[in-house]
Amino acid sequence: MKYISTRGQGQPQSFEQVLLTGLAPDGGLYVPEHLPQLSREQFSAWEGLDYPQLAFEITRLFAGDEIASDDLREIIESAYANFAHPDIAPLVELSAGEFVLELFHGPTLAFKDFALQVLGRLLDLVLKKNGRRVVILGATSGDTGSAALEGCRHSDQVDIFILHPYQRVSDVQRKQMTTVPGSNVFNLAIEGDFDDCQRLVKSAFADQSFLPQDRQLVAVNSINWARILMQTVYYFAAALRLGAPKASVSFSVPTGNFGDIYAGYLARLMGLSIDQLVVATNKNDILHRLISNNEYSVTGLTRTCSPSMDILVSSNFERYLFDLFDRNPQQLKSFMHAFGEKPLQLSPSQWQRLRSIFDSASVDDDTTCQVIADVHSRHGVLLDPHTAVGLHSARLCRKTKSVPMVTLATAHPAKFSDAISAAGLPIPDLPNHLQDLYQRSERYEVMPAQLTALTSYIADCL
Ligand SMILES: *Cc1c(COP(=O)(O)O)cnc(C)c1O
Repeated sequence: MKYISTRGQGQPQSFEQVLLTGLAPDGGLYVPEHLPQLSREQFSAWEGLDYPQLAFEITRLFAGDEIASDDLREIIESAYANFAHPDIAPLVELSAGEFVLELFHGPTLAFKDFALQVLGRLLDLVLKKNGRRVVILGATSGDTGSAALEGCRHSDQVDIFILHPYQRVSDVQRKQMTTVPGSNVFNLAIEGDFDDCQRLVKSAFADQSFLPQDRQLVAVNSINWARILMQTVYYFAAALRLGAPKASVSFSVPTGNFGDIYAGYLARLMGLSIDQLVVATNKNDILHRLISNNEYSVTGLTRTCSPSMDILVSSNFERYLFDLFDRNPQQLKSFMHAFGEKPLQLSPSQWQRLRSIFDSASVDDDTTCQVIADVHSRHGVLLDPHTAVGLHSARLCRKTKSVPMVTLATAHPAKFSDAISAAGLPIPDLPNHLQDLYQRSERYEVMPAQLTALTSYIADCL
């Protein structure tokens, strides 16, 4: 399988090559040249598989023969062996046909572990094979950082630098990052907001001359294709459990950078019987405004109680737009270049196509807290604020009771205790393996939001 850039330049790349980069050199994102099409027989053959077996079957469709089957199987098994639930991604039924897919049983309590536990091991394998070392550089508004550190820290082949906005992540999120041991682990608290962190990372990727000759930067945010790939698996797993391929299933996805829901869109393109895909947003609702109103424009950032979705522009949306523009890179480029200067619109037929695949909603903080309180009292289930946004959006958008609706539960409620308190509920305990989190010692560097400060710091650490 080969991968091409959404901006149309350069040669198609291998799975290994896209694993070891971030954006394509032309500034685009990598997507598969062709998607595998799965038959009903194929789905039926997968019905009895457990989660790691299913993940193996799906991943090897995309890795081709670049990763030996035995290695791939071992990586996937060990990645999911340290999840705290035997089902890995358990489905919980709230009421008839209304489900929550719990994706927070991994080591850092958010769905990002599903991809980053595998990505860290894959990188290690490929780098060892080629006798190389790389520098992982990423910005986080909270959850990506800890999941990336947990996933990659055991590799001798990487040095990993994670930027977070100083004093703007939750205590649990900061502690989860800054208490990770290892001489190859570096946490940087940037005096600025998440967008400043992202800008710094982007600039460093654009000019990597500060690195030693034999090193390059690798991205661990959701522009990395392997992350999207690993996230397709739980759509298949959940749908198969609910009767696919015979029956259809709908999903509601708490959305920030559009990585998670894009994985669902791919599963659907591959032939999985997905009916609705609901883009659930908080007040940072650029995608909801586009889907509901054909208006694509940036507004100011709103801070919400679901901070992992506090995002102005969703980077992975470009991957979907590429398809919407019939994979025409010229059209995509002119759309992306015009964006930001003025509000954009899709043509009526493009907008209809978008709406034939995605529904959407935007949920404010008051409603989010009400949903947390209400679901807790009615069903005895404690949702985190991102999941509450997802569930409420699911209820607003669901078209028919005859198709089950699955909301992705993207984080454990203990990670977002402020929202739980605001909902009037007692703060839940951290799971066992994090009980002593507050006693662990922290290590991080506070740094101004300046590129030279960042690049010279990294160069000195290598
Ligand atoms: C990252 C994250 C999201 C958003 O996922 P995207 O792939 O960026 O759309 C939603 N909820 C939680 C808890 C997250 O950590």
